[in-house]
Amino acid sequence: MKNRSDKKNIHPAVFLDRDGVLSTEKSYVTSIEELEIFPYTRKCIELLHQKGFLAVCITNQSAVARGFMSEAVLKRMNEYLIRETGIDAVSYCPHHPQGIGKYGVLCKCRKPGTEMIEKVIERFQIDRERSYMVGDRASDILCGKKAGMKTVLLESGYGTSRLEEMVYPDFIYRDLVEFVEKIME
Ligand SMILES: [Zn+2]
Repeated sequence: MKNRSDKKNIHPAVFLDRDGVLSTEKSYVTSIEELEIFPYTRKCIELLHQKGFLAVCITNQSAVARGFMSEAVLKRMNEYLIRETGIDAVSYCPHHPQGIGKYGVLCKCRKPGTEMIEKVIERFQIDRERSYMVGDRASDILCGKKAGMKTVLLESGYGTSRLEEMVYPDFIYRDLVEFVEKIME
């Protein structure tokens, strides 16, 4: 069991899923042109920074494992996302158990796995108890709970009617704007 109250970890963070949270939910986004960032995202990230939170995108991108997009294209999309939204970092999982080649593995990073979050926590010295996982799918909520964070389900993606399994987020909000409004109070 890890010591979850490590004193050196001082920064709170908001971990954000990408599609349905920062950008429009589509089944697969495989180019920068298809990545429709919500008009409010940049302002929301700015407010989170003002409040002292790091903002890190945590995204499953099995389109790579399925052969719909190369990892090089995904990396360029991540750089674009950082530029356009002001987020601090993007962590992605390119794998899928039924994927092709080196991406076809049962990994620990694909959400609800927590390896992406754990690596970011270590890199940025994040205080998990003051941190949030924000997503639009069951896997986001399960991941956040396993990582010991507060969990937020947004209805701006697939919405509560499309949940793959029953989950119990700490908060349910319409979109990132409403979440940020609550956190700024
Ligand atoms: Zn992975």
